[in-house]
Amino acid sequence: MQENILKLKKILTNTKQIVITTHRGPDGDAMGSSLAIMHLLKDLGHYVNLITPNSYPDFLHWMPGNDKVIIFEEENIKAQKLTSNADIIFFMDFSNIDRIADYSKLVSNSAATKVLIDHHENPDTSIADIIFSDIKASSTAQLLYEILEKMDFQHYINKNIAECLYAGIMTDTGSFKYSSTTAKTHHIIAKLIAAGADNPKIHDLVYDNLSASRMKLLGYCLNEKLLIYTEHNSAIISLTEDELIKFNFKKGDTEGIVNYALAIKEIKFAAFIVEKDGVVKLSLRSKGRFKVNEIASKYFKGGGHANAAGGISETSVNETITRIEKIITEYKIN
Ligand code: 5GP
Ligand code: MN
Repeated sequence: MQENILKLKKILTNTKQIVITTHRGPDGDAMGSSLAIMHLLKDLGHYVNLITPNSYPDFLHWMPGNDKVIIFEEENIKAQKLTSNADIIFFMDFSNIDRIADYSKLVSNSAATKVLIDHHENPDTSIADIIFSDIKASSTAQLLYEILEKMDFQHYINKNIAECLYAGIMTDTGSFKYSSTTAKTHHIIAKLIAAGADNPKIHDLVYDNLSASRMKLLGYCLNEKLLIYTEHNSAIISLTEDELIKFNFKKGDTEGIVNYALAIKEIKFAAFIVEKDGVVKLSLRSKGRFKVNEIASKYFKGGGHANAAGGISETSVNETITRIEKIITEYKIN
């Protein structure tokens, strides 16, 4: 770590053209860590742009710097120009180039120095020159905070940076309840609040700011779409594209639905299957030893963390349900 800190400090000594990117389908940690480092690098005097592969949900739009974000899918030419001119590219919250989807070609072709900051398992170390990878970190935002402290940059953490980091840690720890939450996480959170993060405001903007149709979609999932397999301590919720249309679906509306299935007593494995734009996407969650990232990579071209992973299915929603049912009878989940 110390050696990487020195390397990073060295490449940041003179003014650079910097691009920051994060994974497709950016979540709170992806946007929080990316926007935080964007603000910091700008304050250090660099030219900085944040390019996301695609758009992200409305409940993250309050974040400071949101109006500066360039979405590759929507501003292809601008992204292309900035990426080919970049001296440094930061990879935030992903460690496999496939996770930036169609944007990966531009990034791989760029001669920039690549810096990876991430907390996912099995990082592909060939994709970057300087690697900060800590799979024990609750979030990329927490890891970024630790890096900033080691660089002696704590004094740069102003209200905007603190709020972005707070949101990243909060969302990736399920509001400080997952086992990845440690004393260190809470110490960092305390320092972010001291630096100006308005914690009740952030909780309200992220969690208590939902549209009525999103709430109704959740009600429909719980009331009509929840399959429970008591014998296998498992549950599945699924949604087809037609159902999404019926509930006036907007990006982010299905976020967190899987956690309701996992909140049921004795359920140790939950799968959420959703068909969006013709692609069947899975969110897998578990409690305890059952490693859902192994299931995601073995059966669904995906990956993630031991207790939270995702992937895609090349079959229909119904066929995917059948495949998951087969998986839960093959593995002992308890
Ligand atoms: P979610 O279910 O919230 O979409 O994703 C949960 C976690 O699974 C993410 O933080 C990410 O680590 C991982 N993940 C989700 N989708 C994919 C995917 O398609 N590929 C890989 N490698 N990981 C994924
Ligand atoms: Mn993360």
